[in-house]
Amino acid sequence: MATAILSIDMTALVENWHSLNTMAQAETGAVVKADAYGLGLAKVAPALARAGARSFFVAMAEEGAELRKILGEGPQINVFSGHMPGDTALIREAQLTPMLNSVDQMLVHVESLPGHPFGLQLDTGMNRLGMEDAEWRALRDLALDQSPTLVMSHLACADEADHEMNARQLQTFREMTEGIDVPRSLAATGGILLGSDYHFDMVRPGIGLYGGLPFVDARPVVELHIPVIQIRDVAVGETVGYGNTWVARSPSRIATISAGYADGVIRGMGPKAQLHTGASAVPVVGRISMDMIGVDVTGLAEEPETLELIGSHQSVDTVAGFADTIGYEILTSLGGRYKRIYV
Ligand SMILES: *Cc1c(COP(=O)(O)O)cnc(C)c1O
Repeated sequence: MATAILSIDMTALVENWHSLNTMAQAETGAVVKADAYGLGLAKVAPALARAGARSFFVAMAEEGAELRKILGEGPQINVFSGHMPGDTALIREAQLTPMLNSVDQMLVHVESLPGHPFGLQLDTGMNRLGMEDAEWRALRDLALDQSPTLVMSHLACADEADHEMNARQLQTFREMTEGIDVPRSLAATGGILLGSDYHFDMVRPGIGLYGGLPFVDARPVVELHIPVIQIRDVAVGETVGYGNTWVARSPSRIATISAGYADGVIRGMGPKAQLHTGASAVPVVGRISMDMIGVDVTGLAEEPETLELIGSHQSVDTVAGFADTIGYEILTSLGGRYKRIYV
C-alpha cells in the first residue's frame, strides 16, 4: 500500500490537555478549529470532552455545527468569528455561542436571536478581531446587561515570553475589563506558559494539545510514516526529480517515497528536509513532487520500507523549520490521503 500512515497518539493528546489544565489557574477549554488542527475533529473533540474539557472553540459557525453533532448537548461551543450574516440558523440550531466582535455583530445577534448566549471579543492590540476601546465603551453597559458568557481577547506575541507586547496587552485587557462580573479569557497555549497573571477565568489552548511549540514540554501527538515505493541506483552525474536540481556527486541509492506537496509536505522544504529510518537521518534530494519525494538512502545497512517524516526523531516543529514555517501550518496542511490511525 502506498498510503502514508499518520498516527495520532490520543493518550498524548489527553495528557497534554491535563498538563495545561494543571498549569492553568482557570478553566481549560480546547481549541479545535480547522478539524482540530488537521488531526480529526470527530476523534479529538470527544477525547478532550472525556478528559474534562467543557468549553470548545472553533473559528466559524459551520465548524461549530459539525462539532455539536459530534459532542451532542452539553459542552459549550464558542465561535471566534462571532455572528456573521447567514449564521443565525446554525447558531440557534447547534446552540453555538458566538464571540461577538463588533457593535454590528451585537445588533445582528440581539435582533435575530434575543436571549441567545454570546460572548464578547475585545481587541487589545493585535488588530485582528474584537472591539476596540471606543467601541467597547459605547457598548459596554448594554452588552453587560445581557450577561455575556465570556469576555476574551488574544495575544499577538505570546510565543515570545520576553516580548513587551505581552505585558502591554495584559494591561489593556485589565483596563478594559476591570470590575466586570463576566468570566474573562486572554491566554492561548503561549499565554498559559506566561504565567497565572494571564490565565483569568478560562484558557484556550490549541497547539499545545497537539504537541506543538511553544509548549516545549508537550508530548508529541503525531507520527507520519511514508512508504518507499522504489529504490534505485543513481550514477555520478545523473539527476533526480523535476528540474534536475539534484545531481549525484557520488554513486547513490535513491528511494522514492509516497507523499508530496498534495499531502502537505510543503514543496519549499525540499532542500532542507530530511527523514528518518530508526535513528539514521536521510536527506530529501531534488524537488518535492505532488505525490512523491526522492530521498538519499545511500549507505543504509538495510533498505527501509517506510521513512519517518514526523515522529520520535524529529518533531512537527523541526519539520516546520525545513519550510521556514510553524508547526501549526504543518499540522493544518496534513492532507486527506493519509490513513489516520488513532492509538
Ligand atoms: C487559534 C486560537 C487559539 C489557540 O491558539 P494556540 O496558539 O493554538 O494555543 C486561541 N484563541 C484564539 C482567538 C485563536 O484564534
